[in-house]
Amino acid sequence: MEKIRIGIAGYGNIGRGVEQAIERNADMELVAVFTRRDPKTVSTVSEGVSVLSMNDLHLKKDDIDVMIVCGGSATDLPKMGPDIVKYFNTIDSFDTHAKIPEYYNHMDEAAKGGNHIGIISVGWDPGMFSLNRLFGDSFLPQGDTYTFWGKGVSQGHSDAIRRIPHVKNAIQYTVPVDEAVEEVRSGSGPKFTARQMHRRECFVAAEEGADLKEIEDTIKNMPNYFAEYDTTVQFITEEELKEKHSKMPHGGFVIRSGETGKDNHKEMMEYSLKLESNPEFTSSILVCYARAAYRLAKKGESGARTVFDIAPALLSAKSPEEIRKQLL
Ligand code: NDP
Repeated sequence: MEKIRIGIAGYGNIGRGVEQAIERNADMELVAVFTRRDPKTVSTVSEGVSVLSMNDLHLKKDDIDVMIVCGGSATDLPKMGPDIVKYFNTIDSFDTHAKIPEYYNHMDEAAKGGNHIGIISVGWDPGMFSLNRLFGDSFLPQGDTYTFWGKGVSQGHSDAIRRIPHVKNAIQYTVPVDEAVEEVRSGSGPKFTARQMHRRECFVAAEEGADLKEIEDTIKNMPNYFAEYDTTVQFITEEELKEKHSKMPHGGFVIRSGETGKDNHKEMMEYSLKLESNPEFTSSILVCYARAAYRLAKKGESGARTVFDIAPALLSAKSPEEIRKQLL
């Protein structure tokens, strides 16, 4: 079987997840991992993976079909995405929701310039949740859409706590409020404030002698992060934090409730995810979109795409004939 040759640009949680997802897809092979750090200092999950400097990326132009760009959304991807799509077909998980239209335009221009495909903002949110919001909005044009996240770790909120003086380490879980989920499922079309939909649980390891009351107040009153939510703060040791809170679970629900027909029959759509490893699941989606990018590029297409533009059959390792036989 001719394998799709994949490269990984940036090797953090998602990069490691992509490496492992490739192992689970027989039609793909990993050519190399590229990093901005000294390659000698980066050890991969499996042995024998070639780790190269990001400066040498373009040297592998002819050896890689799709580059999965695994940099962070805040500062890495806005630069890395357009730079890399000039040389390769790319997939990324850009998740700064408000900046996606702007990022799309930069990627589209660069991808067309390099005659490549760049599929952006792939993952579960944005990604699978976006698709399910689109389905809900299209199938039930009169209705309400609700997105609940969690229980899961929010990297942004955890980082915000870590920046507070005298905090050694911290983790924050976003938790959906059960009563709100049930109310939505009842079909009553409720309107919620942020506080009514999610609560925030924080586990904090503080320096010895730190004023815990002051840290707790600083967290709970932090605007845009915690002030708008019911927040609990629990102080634990660094060891306990490492032992009990070093996994990266996540998930959530997209629910669309709406009405159909003259008699206003109530209809409910629900998509739910329960993830033990957010990065590994996200990476499992990224590699499927890499398959789609490979196929579109082979057809001579170029430019930026989002998950909305990709036909589901392109994600599957199976042929269209097999899919029709087994899945229809
Ligand atoms: P990380 O912070 O783990 O990695 C980001 C980059 O940081 C890496 O590519 C790596 O680049 C660098 N890096 C990683 N570890 C180290 C280290 N020890 N020292 C120095 N640099 C390091 O981010 P994630 O992989 O967790 O996430 C990537 C993006 O994906 C995020 O923006 C996240 O929000 C997004 N995401 C999107 C999802 C979705 O559903 N759409 C879901 C999950 C995440 P280099 O190797 O070049 O140094």
